[in-house]
Amino acid sequence: MDIHEYQAKEILARFGVPMPRGGLVYSPEQAAYRATEIGGAAWVAKAQVHSGGRGEAGGVKLCRSDREIADVANILFGHRLVTRQSGPAGKPVFRVYVEEATDIARELYFGIVLDRRTEQVMVIASAEGGMEIEELADSNPDTLLRTPIEPALGFLEFQAREIAFALRLEPKQIAQASRVFHGAYRAFRDLDATMLEINPLVVTRDGGLVALDAKMSFDDNALFRHPDISELRDHSQEDARESDAADRGLSYVGLDGDIGCMINGAGLAMATMDMIKLAGGEPANFLDIGGGASPERVLKAFRAVLQDSNVKVMLVNIFAGINRCDWVAEGIVSAFKEIDVKLPVVVRLAGTHVELGKQILRESGLPIVTADTLAEAAEKAVEATVALARPIDERPANGTPVRDHPIS
Ligand code: GDP
Ligand code: MN
Repeated sequence: MDIHEYQAKEILARFGVPMPRGGLVYSPEQAAYRATEIGGAAWVAKAQVHSGGRGEAGGVKLCRSDREIADVANILFGHRLVTRQSGPAGKPVFRVYVEEATDIARELYFGIVLDRRTEQVMVIASAEGGMEIEELADSNPDTLLRTPIEPALGFLEFQAREIAFALRLEPKQIAQASRVFHGAYRAFRDLDATMLEINPLVVTRDGGLVALDAKMSFDDNALFRHPDISELRDHSQEDARESDAADRGLSYVGLDGDIGCMINGAGLAMATMDMIKLAGGEPANFLDIGGGASPERVLKAFRAVLQDSNVKVMLVNIFAGINRCDWVAEGIVSAFKEIDVKLPVVVRLAGTHVELGKQILRESGLPIVTADTLAEAAEKAVEATVALARPIDERPANGTPVRDHPIS
């Protein structure tokens, strides 16, 4: 789960990381009021969206009067900010953060990630901050210093000092830098974060260090032990398809193609995505119904997949261990009864009660295409999308009647 910059800053402040004074606002009037409250002669208005690259997209503006900050906020509110990370639809701006302007001498990069390859927490730092880490890794990989953290030892003082030296900080800044790094690391570790980024970490003209931008992501599977972090979720910034499914207790991943997939288990989902691609198609999404899914749950899942208007063909792939093919089949049949299913549906069932499941589908008389293997199912789903792309008079009648394949 991602959170906003202002939320990450609130968290980091609790862990002793210094930053400019600021406040969150929900209207242009509040923006002007907050600026005068903060005081000073210049402020920065920052669109709060779950995406980096806001600066170059016009989401971060330096303002020199309360009038100007109200005008900027007026433009930002309600606007969809399109950044190089947001996708073409952009992210809606409903919150703006107003911050006192900082006199920047140098911009540094400081980040912490969970490195899957080394299975360790990795601290990443660079003296070339401000730009995105991906860009930095492409253009200037040598400037990136990676410091793996040994889990049993934690982040050690000498490592913090080594990073501070690599960032070319002056001796008198080292102690403060070390406090910033350790504070950030404690926030990352204590709150089960998967990513933390302070970019830029700024050296000010008077020699101080401040976090000018902050980003944090959290491990969804650990949120249950951080209710205060769970509350920071902002649905307006998430894929509507995914958050709707999450609200119904289903796990759903939205993609860009046209084949909607209902699958049990993440591993089978990955394999199915691969097979669809191999057959020349593109998945629109996949929904994992999990283990022990009742017919009602299958019906709910069906609805969730079909809600995505990109879906042209639906593929159901179930390898039933804990699940039961007859329950899945019942769910599919009731989906046809309750929802007006117009698009081609390809079903592959295997495992527990498969014969009964197939019988239910067959006796339903519904235009369901069945398949015995994953490869066959993927090919039939892709064939169906290709058939739909043909002119109407060349298409086969919608849905081939159910065929009974022997179990191979
Ligand atoms: P991002 O583009 O989404 O990563 O947003 P940032 O918060 O990192 O801001 C982008 C850039 O705007 C920073 O790298 C700075 O160069 C600039 N910026 C942000 N705040 C200030 C400020 O207070 N003073 C000045 N001079 N520049 C700022
Ligand atoms: Mn940034």
